[in-house]
Amino acid sequence: SMEYGPAPETAAEALAWLVDQGDRFGHFINGSFTAPGEGFLSKNPATGETLAMLTQATQADVDTAVEAARKAQPKWEKLGGHGRARHMYALTRLMQKHARLFAVLETLDNGKPIRESRDIDVPLAQRHFYYHAGMAQLMQAEMPDRRALGVCGQIIPWNFPLLMLAWKVAPALAMGNTVVLKPAEYTSLTALLFADICRQAGLPKGVVNIVTGDGAVGEMIVAHEGIDKIAFTGSTEVGRKIRQATAGSGKALTLELGGKSPYIVFDDADLDSAVEGLVDAIWFNQGQVCCAGSRLLVQEGVAERFHAKLRARMDGLRIGDPLDKCIDVGAIVDPVQVQTIRDMVDGNTEGETYCVNAQLPAGGCYYPPTLITGLTPTSRLMQEEIFGPVLVSTTFRTPTEAVDVANNTRYGLAATVWTENVNLALDIAPKLVAGVVWVNATNLFDAAAGFGGMRESGFGREGGWEGLNAYTRPKGKTKPLTKIEGFTGEGSEAE
Ligand code: NAD
Repeated sequence: SMEYGPAPETAAEALAWLVDQGDRFGHFINGSFTAPGEGFLSKNPATGETLAMLTQATQADVDTAVEAARKAQPKWEKLGGHGRARHMYALTRLMQKHARLFAVLETLDNGKPIRESRDIDVPLAQRHFYYHAGMAQLMQAEMPDRRALGVCGQIIPWNFPLLMLAWKVAPALAMGNTVVLKPAEYTSLTALLFADICRQAGLPKGVVNIVTGDGAVGEMIVAHEGIDKIAFTGSTEVGRKIRQATAGSGKALTLELGGKSPYIVFDDADLDSAVEGLVDAIWFNQGQVCCAGSRLLVQEGVAERFHAKLRARMDGLRIGDPLDKCIDVGAIVDPVQVQTIRDMVDGNTEGETYCVNAQLPAGGCYYPPTLITGLTPTSRLMQEEIFGPVLVSTTFRTPTEAVDVANNTRYGLAATVWTENVNLALDIAPKLVAGVVWVNATNLFDAAAGFGGMRESGFGREGGWEGLNAYTRPKGKTKPLTKIEGFTGEGSEAE
C-alpha cells in the first residue's frame, strides 16, 4: 500500500511452487508424497483466498507413517551422530537456499508480517537445525550413556509453523529418533515445503514423515502403539487431553502449552525502552505467541504516564498486508480466531478499552492492537489467554505485590521485569513462577537454552541439553510400549 512506502514482497515464487505441486497435497510418508485425498482448504488469512487443498489423514495413513518411521529408526540411529549431522547440514543448507520461498509461503499461510517470517521465523528455524546438527556430532562424546527414544509423534500449532517444526524435528533427528509430525490444519504449507526439501536433500526414507489433518489425526498419533514419545505444543486444553491419553502407556511426553505472561514495569524503569519491549512482547505475531507479555503490571506512580506513552506508540503501529515489508501487525490466522478474540474483548465490562483506530484491509482476518487498562488481578481477561493483539493492564504498589499479582494465574511460561535497579531485578526474578524471566528485554530465544513452562504452561524443556535429554533414554533400559495394568504413569512422563 502506497502509504507505507515500498511495494509488497512478491508472492509469485511461492504461488508457483504451489502450482508445481498441483495446488493439492497428500502426506509425506517414507520419502515421498502420497496421492492427495479427501481433505480441506488452506487459506490466506489476509485475503481469504484459497492457497491449496490438503488431505485429512486416515488411520491407515497414520499407520503407514508410523510403520515407515519404525523401519527407518534403527538404521538412522546406527548412522551415528556424525552421519546424521551430515544429513542435517545438507538439509539446512537447502532450507537456507530456499529461505525466501519459506518466508513468503509462511506469511501467505499464516498472515504474519513478512518482516517477521523473513528475519525471525525462518532464520531461527535454520539456526535450530544447524545447532542440533552440531549436537548430533557431540552426542557420542557428551552423552555416552544415552540413546534414541525411537519414534516420536509430534503435534504443533499454527502460530510459528516452521519454527515449531524445527524445535520438534531437529533435536529428535539429532539424537537418532525418527518422526511422524502433524502440522496445524490452518498452516501446513511450510511443513510440506520442508518435506519436499527432505526429499531433495536425500534424507533417508522414513526418517521424517508428515501427515496433515485436524485434531482427530493428532488423536491417532497420540494413541498409536508404535510411537515412543509424544511432543506437543498447543493449547492447555488439548495438552490435558494428551496427558490423560498417554498416562500409563509408557510413552514419553513433553507439553508446551499456553501462558499469560506478566510484563512488570517498575517506576524507575526506562519507560521508552519498556514501551518498545512491550510492542515486541504483545504485538509480535499479532499477539499469537505462547510466551507473549500479555499482562502488563505497572507501578502506580508511573502508570498514567506509561499508558499514555503506550497509546501514542500503538497509534504508530502499521497494520495491513502481511507481504508489505513495512507492516508491523499482519492478519490473524483464521476467522475463528478473530471471533474468539472479539468475543473475549466484547464480553469484558471492566476497565477502559483503547483500540487503535486503523483502516483495516477489507476481506482479511484483522484485529486492531488493543489495550485494556484498569483491570483487577482477578478479572477474567487478566486470567485467561486471549492469544491475540490485546494487552491487559493493572497496577501495583510494592515489589511484593508485583510478585503476588504476577504469580496469580494458572500459567507459568515467561515473565519480564523492567527496572534500572539490578538488585531489585535479581530479587524479583527467582520469585516469579515462570520457565524464563527476561530482565529489560523480551522474546530472547536461543537453541542452546531450554524453553518451557511451569504449572499449566506444561512440562519438559525444548532446546539446550534438557531438550536433547528429552529425546533420549538411558542405554540398556527399554521403554515398555505396551500398556501395563495398574501403572498410572503419573510423574514418570516428565523427563
Ligand atoms: P490447539 O491445541 O488447538 O492445536 C494444536 C495442535 O494440536 C494442532 O495441530 C491441532 O490439530 C492438534 N490437536 C487438536 N486437538 C487435538 C487432540 N485432541 N489430540 C491431539 N492433537 C490435537 O492449539 P492452537 O489453537 O493450534 O494453538 C494455540 C495454543 O498453543 C495457545 O494456547 C498457545 O499458548 C499454545 N502455544 C504454546 C507454545 C509453547 O511453546 N508453550 C507455543 C505455541 C503455542
